[in-house]
Amino acid sequence: MISLAAPILGESEKQALSAVIDSGWLTMGNQVKDFETAFAEMHQVSEAVAVSSCTAGLHLSLAALGVGDGDEVLVPSLTFVATVNAILYVGATPVFVDIESVERPHISLEDAKNKVTAKTKAVIVMHYAGYLIDNLIDWRTFVDANKLFLVEDAAHAPGIETVGQIADAAAFSFFSNKNMTTAEGGMVIARQPAILEKIRALRSHGMTTSTLDRDKGHAYSYDVTMLGYNYRIDELRAAIGICQLSQLKKWNNKRRQLTAIYRKLFTESNITIPFKDHKITAAHLLPILLPENIDRTQVMKQLRTAGIQSSIHYPPVHHFSYYQKHFPGVKLSKTENFYKHIITLPLYPDLNQSNIETIVKSVNSCV
Ligand SMILES: *Cc1c(COP(=O)(O)O)cnc(C)c1O
Repeated sequence: MISLAAPILGESEKQALSAVIDSGWLTMGNQVKDFETAFAEMHQVSEAVAVSSCTAGLHLSLAALGVGDGDEVLVPSLTFVATVNAILYVGATPVFVDIESVERPHISLEDAKNKVTAKTKAVIVMHYAGYLIDNLIDWRTFVDANKLFLVEDAAHAPGIETVGQIADAAAFSFFSNKNMTTAEGGMVIARQPAILEKIRALRSHGMTTSTLDRDKGHAYSYDVTMLGYNYRIDELRAAIGICQLSQLKKWNNKRRQLTAIYRKLFTESNITIPFKDHKITAAHLLPILLPENIDRTQVMKQLRTAGIQSSIHYPPVHHFSYYQKHFPGVKLSKTENFYKHIITLPLYPDLNQSNIETIVKSVNSCV
């Protein structure tokens, strides 16, 4: 069986976990601090805040920026549901924006311009499949002109230096099928130190000091200055994260190489891979577009029979029954068209050339 994604975990993670267990300090200690420092360095920012998930990171980003009741947030529907759920958590209303095109399935700036209103407070963009949105400067101009905040859902793009530099906040995911993992976990970076400080406080009940500070004798008590949450990450996960981070750039490189092999092997067929010639990518996913007349379910069944796992990224969020019930009547023709014809094929650093040859052959035989 060739699976869709596979984390790489080994001796160094086991040793790091043992060391945490032996230390007796299980949460929000030096591992978390070191993980944050290493992550910030890699992304060329001075600080980062580790959280329990990317979902938590998106929630806290919106909360810290003051997005809430009565506000509208522009968001792609072609994303994981967490991106949109975070908008609902703060009491704001998602306004779904179409993609640019099936060849460039990023959130469309042109459609966003049509949907901005006096109530719009923020935009969340998402680096679909790891391909960095390459018109972020134009997005910044747009948000500045309309006095909005820009948030990046960077779940697919850790390890890319330029990620999160133009946005007001960016959130990353370390869920088990992402480019690096802590099993569950996430990270947030933000342009303004004050916003990041607020995110740091919101992560732990809005408390003014941490358990570690009090343990070290740096503080005797604490105050609670805002309504916060428990979105902390523990030492075990952070220790795994430090190991994984040291491999991330190598793994991203491998993902790009494997993507190039897929692209080459598919050139002779009538399969399209979005983002042809795109410059910067963390190569998180390998989505392909099937020809219009092909029955996708049939292809996925045949792949399964051949021992190849496939998936769909993503069923548009506005199609889910919860969203249809609360936000009916959404029509996004390009997103819907893209969704109808995509399949995601296996992509992870341990995949090899002969696996890809098998996969491409199987897909070609279906179409
Ligand atoms: C995985 C993912 C998330 C959620 O990440 P968690 O860490 O599981 O909360 C959010 N957005 C996108 C685009 C994702 O792929």
